Amino acid sequence: MKNIAVIGAGTMGNGIAHVFAQNGFKVNLIDISPESLEKGIANITTNLDRMIAKEKISEADKTATLNNISTFTSLPEGAKNRDLVVEAATENIDLKLKIFKNLDEICDVKTVLATNTSSISITHIASVTNRPEKVIGMHFMNPVPIMKLVEIIRGYITSDEVTEQIMNLSQQLGKTPTEVNDYPGFVANRILMPMINEAIETLYNGVAGVSEIDTVMKLGMAHPMGPLQLADFIGLDVCLSILNVMHDGFKNPKYAPCPLLVNMVMAKKLGVKSGEGFYDYSESRKAEKVAKSFSK
Ligand code: NAD
Repeated sequence: MKNIAVIGAGTMGNGIAHVFAQNGFKVNLIDISPESLEKGIANITTNLDRMIAKEKISEADKTATLNNISTFTSLPEGAKNRDLVVEAATENIDLKLKIFKNLDEICDVKTVLATNTSSISITHIASVTNRPEKVIGMHFMNPVPIMKLVEIIRGYITSDEVTEQIMNLSQQLGKTPTEVNDYPGFVANRILMPMINEAIETLYNGVAGVSEIDTVMKLGMAHPMGPLQLADFIGLDVCLSILNVMHDGFKNPKYAPCPLLVNMVMAKKLGVKSGEGFYDYSESRKAEKVAKSFSK
């Protein structure tokens, strides 16, 4: 596998394109939005500059990495003649089903189709293709260039061969792949999201403020980042959609999203990507507790 396509140039897509390109793969980065592509490449460039400043890579490595990435707004153009497609578009089931149906028509029968979905069933996504044994979850963590884990999710009929291929490929990227089965939330989010939701519920109930909740979890539980700040980094819309998938999938009220999370997403306070979530990420980076005004 040498030729890769990454669909979506947002938070995750540009990070995934970055790690493939830095490891010598040729990457077609595809997004319907030219602005997202521009922002994605700018983000990769900033991250590479940061690595140069830390003396982790050279100026030549940066140039080679950027030269390995081509951008496309057309799915058929960007996804044809690829060995592997990694889909990292918006977390929306109808959108992903449509993309995979299209990919199945565009791509060679040998092409493996992976999704970076945080929670949507791999088996469901695979079912709209004629190659369900070649569809797999490749769940990178945010920020992709730094985080070691890739959760490899086997759909109900993903083949052993494809699983092994993707496990090996993840290792070539310097990551640690971990194989799990396809049930709502997989492993990572099944455990993480109820904790984030509970932190939001704690804020909503007025038990403590944003920084107090995060401080308790950082200093008390040795988490590198508090759950509310982590939610801002993941994207509150992504958190909400994962909780909804687990709530629907398990029919268990313990996964019901907190009303404060629902309100913040409707108000487009999505975290880092919108400039405001539980903290303020605007120019001045005030780290203000904007969510406090929403709490009871
Ligand atoms: P994002 O909103 O930052 O980016 C999504 C991108 O997809 C946008 O640039 C959008 O223009 C693009 N897009 C939408 N429809 C498209 C289409 N039809 N074709 C091509 N591009 C399209 O979202 P994100 O946070 O990067 O999430 C992407 C995926 O990764 C989701 O499935 C999410 O669940 C998963 N994920 C997210 C995180 C996280 O921390 N944010 C972590 C792991 C996995």
